[in-house]
Amino acid sequence: MIRINENYTKLKASYLFADIARRVGAFTSANPDKPVIRLGIGDVTEPLPPACVEALHAAAQEMASRATFKGYGPEQGYPFLRELIAQHDYAARGCRIEADEIFVSDGAKCDCGNIQEIFSNDIRLAIPDPVYPVYVDTNVMAGRTGPFVDGRYQGITYLESTAANGYVPEVPTVAADLIYLCFPNNPTGVVATKEQLAAWVAYAKKNKAVILFDSAYEAYIRDPGIPRSIYEIEGAREVAIEFRSFSKTAGFTGTRCAYTVVPKTLVAWDAAGNPQPLHALWNRRQTTKFNGVSYPVQKAAAAAYGPEGSRQCRELTDFYLGNAKLIRAAMAKLGLPCVGGDNAPYVWINVGRDSWEFFDRLLTQAQVVCTPGAGFGKCGEGHVRISAFNSRENVEKALARITAALA
Ligand code: PLP
Repeated sequence: MIRINENYTKLKASYLFADIARRVGAFTSANPDKPVIRLGIGDVTEPLPPACVEALHAAAQEMASRATFKGYGPEQGYPFLRELIAQHDYAARGCRIEADEIFVSDGAKCDCGNIQEIFSNDIRLAIPDPVYPVYVDTNVMAGRTGPFVDGRYQGITYLESTAANGYVPEVPTVAADLIYLCFPNNPTGVVATKEQLAAWVAYAKKNKAVILFDSAYEAYIRDPGIPRSIYEIEGAREVAIEFRSFSKTAGFTGTRCAYTVVPKTLVAWDAAGNPQPLHALWNRRQTTKFNGVSYPVQKAAAAAYGPEGSRQCRELTDFYLGNAKLIRAAMAKLGLPCVGGDNAPYVWINVGRDSWEFFDRLLTQAQVVCTPGAGFGKCGEGHVRISAFNSRENVEKALARITAALA
């Protein structure tokens, strides 16, 4: 008799966004005359930068002719893209990252979900709360946790992000082997200072641990003092893997391109206590299970680094940050404390009551969809996330409705 992976049965019954979709679906079918505005899911709304579209067309044309046709590309990504990433995202910011330490992929979601495979099953995990659910759920599926009891999986050290610590967790007093960090943060929108990240790098060094640093939203950082990469911190090459994505930088959520940096100086230990380079393990994993990102998509991603492309990407992120500013101003007027939105596309609002109850109130009274904080973890209770990914018109309309409903 074929058996299932029992770890899947430990997962919470439904995914947050499925719950939201169900409630919104029920409301819209009961109220077909009341159109809702979605400021919930973190998907972008604006089209691709024209420079990326042009590159996509040109690459598609290359695929149409025998002389320029491309079949399978390198699993790690084409050198033209890896080199641009190394130069623009790292060397330009004083970080020592070589092109062959960059693994191009079709998404940061799959990379931060798949990376746990290269580590032992009995490692100790430290994961933020609230959190992007992928980090937790992929470890649950792999069997690294106990059951879900009272809002938490047994066996995880939760790094609590609350109003008391400015939503940036301190290093824990207990040891952990694998630490997930995400800055600018989803869902809170907060960023970490150089000093805060340096404390994590020191902790990882002391504990022979690895940090998984998700900086999918780095393009939204406007404060020049805030690090965009963990590799801006001295010693991070020895302790950290970094995930990045073109999804929120260049509007690639539906086009799919991202990358993961695994420095060659990063090791973990085998059962005999010998250091093993993680670069070799991830390379083995990717070459075994992944066949690379399509050539036209990599050409489109490369165009984001050109003079036109980088200007257009900046305009895009500036546009969403403009929405975030409007959201923050409206919440301030309503007297609701919030963080995020200045270096991130998310605003995290302390609503001071049950987050699903607040979600329902916004849905029924303002026809606006937000994301209840409780869906991101226990510490998310009492908060909601409002996303800046929308048209200006929708944001203005939604804020006017929220203000009328709550004022
Ligand atoms: N990491 C974080 C923190 C995210 O919020 C998201 C998407 O919402 C991702 C990764 C996924 O990025 P991608 O579209 O590259 O899979």
